[in-house]
Amino acid sequence: MVEAWIEIKPDSDFSIYNIPFGIYSSDGNEPRPATRLGDKVVDLSVLADFGYFDDLDIDDLTVFYRPYLNDLIDLGKPLTSKIRDRIIALFTSGNDDLKGNTDACEFALIEADRATMHMPVKVGNYTDFYASEQHAFNVGVMFRDPKNALLPNWKHIPVGYHGRASSIVISGTPIHRPKGQTKADDQEFPVFGPSKQVDFELEMGFVIGKSTALGDSVKISDAEDYIFGLILFNDLSARDIQKWEYVPLGPFLSKNFGSVISPWIVTLEALEPFRIPGPVQIPEALPYLQNNGNHHFEINLEVHLISGNSKINTQNSNSRLKTQDSRLISSSNSKYLYWNFAQMLAHHTVNGCNIEVGDICASGTISGPDEGAFGSMLELSWKGTKPIPMPDGSTRKFIDDNDTIVMKGYAEKDGIRIGFGNCSVRILPSKE
Ligand code: MN
Repeated sequence: MVEAWIEIKPDSDFSIYNIPFGIYSSDGNEPRPATRLGDKVVDLSVLADFGYFDDLDIDDLTVFYRPYLNDLIDLGKPLTSKIRDRIIALFTSGNDDLKGNTDACEFALIEADRATMHMPVKVGNYTDFYASEQHAFNVGVMFRDPKNALLPNWKHIPVGYHGRASSIVISGTPIHRPKGQTKADDQEFPVFGPSKQVDFELEMGFVIGKSTALGDSVKISDAEDYIFGLILFNDLSARDIQKWEYVPLGPFLSKNFGSVISPWIVTLEALEPFRIPGPVQIPEALPYLQNNGNHHFEINLEVHLISGNSKINTQNSNSRLKTQDSRLISSSNSKYLYWNFAQMLAHHTVNGCNIEVGDICASGTISGPDEGAFGSMLELSWKGTKPIPMPDGSTRKFIDDNDTIVMKGYAEKDGIRIGFGNCSVRILPSKE
C-alpha cells in the first residue's frame, strides 16, 4: 500500500490512488490545471514552476498553465500517465522532494473549500448513449409495450444521439427550469410554459483523450487508448417536453437546457483495479463491437435529493442543506451498463465520424435491477404514479423548484478508495 504524507481521511474520494485532473481557481487567479488529494487542491502549474515535471520529456510545459485540460490531455496517455505517476511519487510518504520544499507546498496546496472548480475541458462535441438495459427496458415498459420493451436494434447497436456541448456546465452551476411546448394526452393542441416534469439522469461520461481524422475508425481493441477518463454526468431532462417533441428525430429542447458534470476527471489508470467483466451479450454483437475481458467498471453511484421547499423554512439559505432535508433516492452502479465504453466509442467511429480531445460521451441513464437502483425520477416514481416521500414531509414525482440533485460516485476495493466528488445542481424557477 502507498501512504501519502498529507492527511487523507479514509472515506475521502481523493486518495493517493486517484490523482484526478481538473481546473480550479482561487483568490481571483486565472483557472489552472490541478489535482486533488484529501481536502487539498494541488496546483499543477506551481509544481511545473518548481521544475517537478522538467525531466518527463514534455515538449510544451505551458500546458500546465492553460484554463482547460485539452492540451494537457492531448500530450497523450504515455505522458499524462507519467505526470500522474510523478504526482503520486511526490506525495508518497518518505519522499521529501516536495514535502521539504516549503515554498512549493505553500503555493501548490490550496484548501478545497477555497477553490472554485471550472469546466475541466472545453467540450467540442457531446454524445449521449442509452446503454443500460434496465433503463431502456423500464422506458419501453412505461411508454410502449411491456411485452416488447426493448426495440429490435437495442442489443445490436449501442444506441445514441448527438447532444449539445454548449450547455454542459460544471457541478454547482444552477439551472433554470426550462420552458417549452407540452401536450397533455387528453388535449388536441400543445401549450407553452414551464416544464412540470424536470428530471435527472444518472450517467457516467467518458472524456476523449485522443483525436482521430475524419474517415478513421477506432478499433474496439484500441478504444480505451482514446478514453482519458471518466466523470459523473447528470443529463437533465424535461419529460413533458421530451414526450411531445421526440418523434421522429429524438431529444432536442428537453435535453439541451443543461447537463452537469463532476469537476474531476478520474483517469482510466486510476480505475484499473475496479475493472470487471460485463454482462454476457446475447445475441452476440457484430465483430466490430466484440471485446471480451474486463471492460466494465464497478463504481457505486448515488443520487441524493435535497428538498428546496423544506418546512424548516428559516431565513438562512444554508438550512436547505441540513441532512434531514436530504434523501438518498438511488443507489446504482456503472456495472449495470450493458454496453461498455469501448463498445460505445468503437460504434461511434465505425462510420468514420471523427472525435476530438475533450469531447464527452455519456452512457445514458444507469439503472440497476432493483427499484432503488433506478437512475431517473421517471423510473423511481414510475411516471409519477409512485411519489417519493421526502424527509420534510413533501413528496416528489419530479424535481421541484429550488431542489438540489447531488450525484456521487466511488469505487472501493482492498482498502483502495477512489471517488469523483459531487456532481450537484440546483433547479431554479423558470426565468421570466
Ligand atoms: Mn441521457
